[in-house]
Amino acid sequence: MAAAAAAKIAEVRETTRVERIGAHSHIRGLGLDDSLEARHVSQGMVGQVSARRAVGIVLHMVREGRIAGRAVLLAGQPGTGKTAIATALAHALGQDTPFTSMAGSEIYSLEMSKTEAITQAIRKSIGVRIKEESEIIEGEVVEVSIDRPATGVGTKVGKLILKTTDMETVYDLGGKMIDSILKEKVQSGDVITIDKATGKITRLGRSFARARDYDATGQQTRFVQCPEGELQKRKEVVHTVTLHEIDVINSRTHGFLALFSGDTGEIKPEVREQINGKVAEWREEGKAEIIPGVLFIDEVHMLDIECFSFLNRALENEMSPIVIMATNRGITKIRGTTYKSPHGIPLDLLDRTIIVPTQPYDEKELREILSIRCEEEDCQMSDNALAVLTRICKETSLRYGMQLIMTSSLIARKRKAHEVDVEDIKRAYTLFYDEGRSVQFLREYQQEFMFNDLDDKDDMEV
Ligand code: ATP
Repeated sequence: MAAAAAAKIAEVRETTRVERIGAHSHIRGLGLDDSLEARHVSQGMVGQVSARRAVGIVLHMVREGRIAGRAVLLAGQPGTGKTAIATALAHALGQDTPFTSMAGSEIYSLEMSKTEAITQAIRKSIGVRIKEESEIIEGEVVEVSIDRPATGVGTKVGKLILKTTDMETVYDLGGKMIDSILKEKVQSGDVITIDKATGKITRLGRSFARARDYDATGQQTRFVQCPEGELQKRKEVVHTVTLHEIDVINSRTHGFLALFSGDTGEIKPEVREQINGKVAEWREEGKAEIIPGVLFIDEVHMLDIECFSFLNRALENEMSPIVIMATNRGITKIRGTTYKSPHGIPLDLLDRTIIVPTQPYDEKELREILSIRCEEEDCQMSDNALAVLTRICKETSLRYGMQLIMTSSLIARKRKAHEVDVEDIKRAYTLFYDEGRSVQFLREYQQEFMFNDLDDKDDMEV
């Protein structure tokens, strides 16, 4: 038996924590002060002050529940922090407000129609806060008395006066509650919880208010970190779920396990109608509250005209989230049409959208962002190397510069150096092309590639 247990233990391998460093893992919030002004460098965010302040106002409106059904567009050149700002907003919203992030291209799936994919994304971004009154009451015992029949036989009866935050309640005791009280040796001055459903009483300890009296008796005790003011009258349990989660749980064809696999497929409109009805009922009874969250659609120009029109209508619905879109496109074709429009978004949707522009970074800001990323990626870099990397970013792009952090750090490690120096950056720069040099290379050597059909006059999308 012992041998078997030992063998079992040997099988348990130590698992090391895998830390993922994502493109935006250095961002922890919008970096705003109490008056919603953006601090220049804070919570991993650098510069882009006006856009952050604008999104800060959006955050405020979301928190106040005032912005349901609006759309915001973050528009700016590639690498100017649009996705970073949306990620920062998600952090700032906190866990109770749903935030769904998707790329425009995600709606083109074989498993479900485009409109179903958008509907699911929308319903994932609407929270339902459901309030339930817990059956557990916590309070301080003012008085407890149990009458035992003289003969020792018969039913014991008793009385318990429990003081909660705002009132004293008298309980007539019987059966299980008495058993619990005797077992836990409850006396006045104790802080206890009563589970109303089962009658179970749990003694938490002594309240501070009576601690001194109790000490005088000389008994060993444990004081509860529960001064009078913190006693609960009744505990309210609040769950926040999304409308999509309620849909999936109630969809007979899928069942709640689909929530874990993500394989929810299409959900029948009848199910959604029923859920909407039920949620409306809960709202009327004061049992539930709708929390409009945020749906972030990156690369929004990838949506086509049908999706835009569907989205436009969905925004008019009473239960709709705030939609934040991002694009780096200028005037371009609306997918699915031959018409051009600003950012590839139809004018009617654009008309109801507040547009937040993002600006390119100056050298100081680039240096700051790179330095934050070096820390995030655990890379020591000399000041000179950082200066060279900043210059490279200025000439190429911030994203390319960020890629060179890890590559040059590996090169430095290979030569057993603890710090990345200029030579490592140079080596990484020659080994890995940025997009500009790659295009130049293709132009020079196009004849040697297969299926080359670029003729000199052709314009490449760069
Ligand atoms: P695209 O238009 O190509 O999608 P984008 O505007 O969404 O670009 P991001 O992906 O947000 O750009 O930014 C590129 C990288 O730079 C990311 O790793 C992001 O976290 C970082 N970054 C951008 N702006 C900031 C900033 N102001 N502070 C800190 N990090 C930033």
